[in-house]
This record gives sequence, C-alpha cells and structure tokens, in this order.
Amino acid sequence: MTRQLGILGYPLTHSASPVMQQAALDHHGLEMRYSAWPTESDALAAAVGRLRWDGYVGANVTIPHKERVIELLDECGRLAREVGAVNTIVKEDGRLLGHNTDVSGFLRALKEQGGFDPSGASVILLGAGGAARAAALALAEEGVASLTIANRTLGRAGSLADELRGRVAAVAPAPLQNAALAGALDGADLIVNATSVGMDRSGDRGKSPLPASMIPSDALVYDMVYVPAQTPLLAEARKAGARTLGGLWMLVYQGAASFELWTGLEAPVQVMARAAERAVAATRGSGRAST
Ligand code: NAP
Repeated sequence: MTRQLGILGYPLTHSASPVMQQAALDHHGLEMRYSAWPTESDALAAAVGRLRWDGYVGANVTIPHKERVIELLDECGRLAREVGAVNTIVKEDGRLLGHNTDVSGFLRALKEQGGFDPSGASVILLGAGGAARAAALALAEEGVASLTIANRTLGRAGSLADELRGRVAAVAPAPLQNAALAGALDGADLIVNATSVGMDRSGDRGKSPLPASMIPSDALVYDMVYVPAQTPLLAEARKAGARTLGGLWMLVYQGAASFELWTGLEAPVQVMARAAERAVAATRGSGRAST
C-alpha cells in the first residue's frame, strides 16, 4: 500500500514542498506519496484526525496553521514548544508528535551555505512573526553577542526580546525604520530578513526593507524570502558589497529535516534543492508561494 504524506495549509496552490519531498521519496524508491492538502481553518481538526488512519505517516504544516495545530497533537518536541509553532507532524505508534524543523533549517543554511558562525556575532533580525521567532531562538542557542529585533509592530519585537533576555547578552527591540536602525546596523555581522517584505505574493513585492546605503559591506545578508530567488533586499546587499544568502536553502533544509523524521533515511539535499528551484521558478509570476 502506498503510504501518505502531505502538507496542511491554505492556500497551497503553489507550495514547493510536494515537488521537493516527492523528489526525495522517489530518490530513495519509497512507496510513499506526498500531496498538497489545502485545508481551511474550520477543516484543520478533521485533516489532522485523518493522519491517525492507517497508511498515513505524517505531514508538514504551513501558514496559517503552524500555531493552532499544536492543540490537536498528542505531544510536541522542546523546540516546537519554545517556538510555539509546529511545521512537521510525525506519527509514532499511533500518536501524533509535533516538531519544528524551521529552527534547524535556518541554522544549517546559515552555517553550510552562508559559511557563517553565529557565535559572538552582532545580529539584526527584521521581523517578529513565526519565522523570526524560529531564527531568534536558533541564534540565542548559538550564543550570538547581540540581537536587535526590528519589527513594524514594535510591541511584537518587544515581547520576543523579553523572552530572550538572559539567553542573549544584549537584546533590544526596535521599530522597523531606517533612522532607528542606523546605529545598530553600523556594526552588524549578520542581517536576517524574516518579514514578508519583498516577497512576490505580498503587497510589498519589489520592495526592500533596507537600502544599500545602510548595509555594512562586511555583513552577511540572509533573506528568508525565496520567491523571487533574487529578492530586492539581496540586490541592495550586493550593491553595498555585502555577502548574501537567499531563503531557498532554509526551505530545503527544513524539508530535509522533516524527511529524515518521517523516514529515518538521509535526505538527498541536492535532489531536493534542484526540485525546489524548479518549483519556485514555476511559481514566479503566479503570485503565490508557501513552504
Ligand atoms: P508571519 O508570522 O505572518 O510574520 C510576518 C512578519 O512580516 C511580521 O514580522 C510582520 O510584521 C512583517 N511584515 C509583514 N508585512 C510587512 C510590511 N508591509 N512592512 C513591514 N513588515 C511587514 O510570517 P512568517 O511565517 O514569520 O514568514 C515571514 C517570511 O519568512 C515570509 O516571507 C515567509 O515566506 C518566509 N519564510 C521562509 C521560510 C524558508 O524556509 N525560507 C520559512 C518560514 C518563513 P508585523 O508584526 O508588524 O505584522
């Protein structure tokens, strides 16, 4: 019997995960099918309930269900509890376990593709939503020296900064405004964009959260946005002479970690990266993308 995996979210029309995960399953010759399961909020409980049926292995979870799905599961791993979000469900002995692989995906891309060691670094994190929380917790665990969390809604940055006090030597919230960030940006080693600014499907398509004039030439600029692959922020960073890292590798590594949880096999990351690139290229111009 073909066993079933899939992704729960809404909308999912242009999710990269089915193509990327199916490529990995096929690479290993597994009799498994990974599907898009578009799920509106009022259908989430039923969709999670179906994972308990025979033949279902687990699922990915994406916007808008990553937080709400927690109450429907039997147990969550430490990171998922800390981030307050689950992106991977694994069925073990009939029980549904929640994991968060965005944290490890973010870090693995930073280290392996960005060649960056976060220990002791000064970091500017743009955003305070789910992706920013995953990044902030990852960076705190890695021992960054300072973390400035800049967000449009200052209160959200403040709450995240409060949670991290005692875990990061210097942590401060800031408004997402050029004038307020100038000082902190000056000595930054790493700038991470975890807002949706610059993403194709957002109202902020084509915009950069920072201009080249504010980006230090010796910083690494890591944009979690991956549609388009070359975001407006990465273009500004290159103008400033800074190194850049796009969001595609985080997508690949979070997916690779999910694959390994479901199958116990090593994820073929190069196969997944090529499939993800194809899927992302196919979404360009269509106006939407999700994990
Ligand atoms: P989210 O929870 O909805 O958070 C969105 C963030 O973007 C918030 O900080 C929000 O600020 C900010 N924002 C939205 N519109 C803005 C605007 N016009 N101006 C300034 N800030 C704005 O979403 P998320 O899950 O964290 O995702 C954020 C981004 O990361 C998305 O582009 C997503 O595709 C990307 N992502 C990538 C990966 C990957 O694997 N590469 C994984 C996860 C997420 P407020 O708090 O003020 O609303």
